[in-house]
Amino acid sequence: TDSIISVRDLQVEFPSALGVVRALNGVNFEIPRGKVIGIVGESGCGKSVTARAIMQIIEHPGKITEGTIEFHRPKGESASQMLSEVSSEVDVAKTDSGGIDITKLGPRSDAMRALRGAEIAMIFQEPMTSLNPVYTVGSQIEEAILLHQTSDKRQAKEQAVDMLRQVGMPNPERIADSYPHELSGGMRQRAMIAMALSCHPALLIADEPTTALDVTTEAQILALMRKLKAEIGMSIMFITHNMGVVAQLCDEVIVMYLGRVVERASVDDIFYAPKHPYTRSLLRSIPRIGSAEHSKLETIKGSIPDPYSRVSGCTFHPRCPDFMPGVCDTVIPEETLLAGPTTHGVRCHLYDDEVGSTKASSSDGA
Ligand code: SF4
Ligand code: MG
Repeated sequence: TDSIISVRDLQVEFPSALGVVRALNGVNFEIPRGKVIGIVGESGCGKSVTARAIMQIIEHPGKITEGTIEFHRPKGESASQMLSEVSSEVDVAKTDSGGIDITKLGPRSDAMRALRGAEIAMIFQEPMTSLNPVYTVGSQIEEAILLHQTSDKRQAKEQAVDMLRQVGMPNPERIADSYPHELSGGMRQRAMIAMALSCHPALLIADEPTTALDVTTEAQILALMRKLKAEIGMSIMFITHNMGVVAQLCDEVIVMYLGRVVERASVDDIFYAPKHPYTRSLLRSIPRIGSAEHSKLETIKGSIPDPYSRVSGCTFHPRCPDFMPGVCDTVIPEETLLAGPTTHGVRCHLYDDEVGSTKASSSDGA
C-alpha cells in the first residue's frame, strides 16, 4: 500500500447522561506517504476526534466503537515487526498487509507508546499542551530523543540543538537553555514542532497549530512545514478551518461535516471542481485574495445542529441550498467515487447516478 494510514468505517462515541453523541460516524480516508492532507470543517465536525483516534488519546469517556485504523511504516519497513520488539501484544493488531491496526492496541500499551512520538507525532494549537513549563526546551527535546533514538546523552544534546536550528530558531543554543515561558508564541510553536520532529516520525498530525498565531508567524510556520515535508518526506495531517491555509499547504483535502467525510479530493479538485454543497459554501466563505483577514467559516447559513439530535437523511439537509425534499431528508447518502485520475469521493444525492458510484460505508446507524 501507498498509504501510511488507512481509516475504515471509523466510529467514535461519547456516552453521557443526555444520550450518546456519535462524534465520528463511518469515517473513511487514506493518508498517502509523503503528502500533506488537510482536514477541514467547522468546529465540532470531528476533525480533532479523528486525529485523537489515530493517536489513541480520545478524551474520556469517548471510545472507538467500530472500524479500523491501519498504520504502515514508510519505506516498506514492517510496522508489526518493529512493534513486536517492544511488546508481544502487537500480535492481535497485525494486519494481513504487514501493518498494525491501531484500534486493537490499548491506549496505554507499550506498543502504543512506541508508536506515539517515534512513528506518529502530534502538535496542537496551544504549545503548552506538549511543553512542560518546569524544564528547558532543550532538555525536553533531548528527553524525547533519548527515549526513542539514542542513549548517548551528548549526541542527544547535539541533535536537540540541531532540531531547533532546523525549525528556524535564530539562536538554537540559547533557545535550548530557555524555559517555555521565556519564548514568544511563535517560538514556542517552533519548539513544539522541533520536539515532535526530533524522533523523525513518519506522520505528523497538526491540529490547528497556527490558529492562535499572527499572520506573519503563521506564514513562517507554514513555510517550515512545506520545507520539512520536502526534506524529510514525512506525511502531514493538517487540521484547520482555514481554506487559505489548505490552499498553501495541502496536496489532498478531506471535508468533514458532523462526524462524516462529505468530500475528499486533490487540493485542485477541492478548489476548482468542488462537488458537495457544503464544500462549496466553505469556499464561498473565503475572503477575496489579497485580503489580510483570516478566512473563517462563519458565513454559512444556519448552524450545526445540537449533537444529541439525530438529523434524518443527509445531516447537511437543514442548511443545504440544493436540498431535495423526500430524498435528502430521508436517505443517508453513500459515498460516490467520481471518475477521474485522482480519488474524488462525495457523499451527496446530487451524484447518486454518477459513473463510479460505490458503497464506501455501511456503518450508518442514525
Ligand atoms: Fe444537500 Fe441533499 Fe446533497 Fe445533502 S444530499 S448535501 S441535502 S443535496
Ligand atoms: Mg478542534
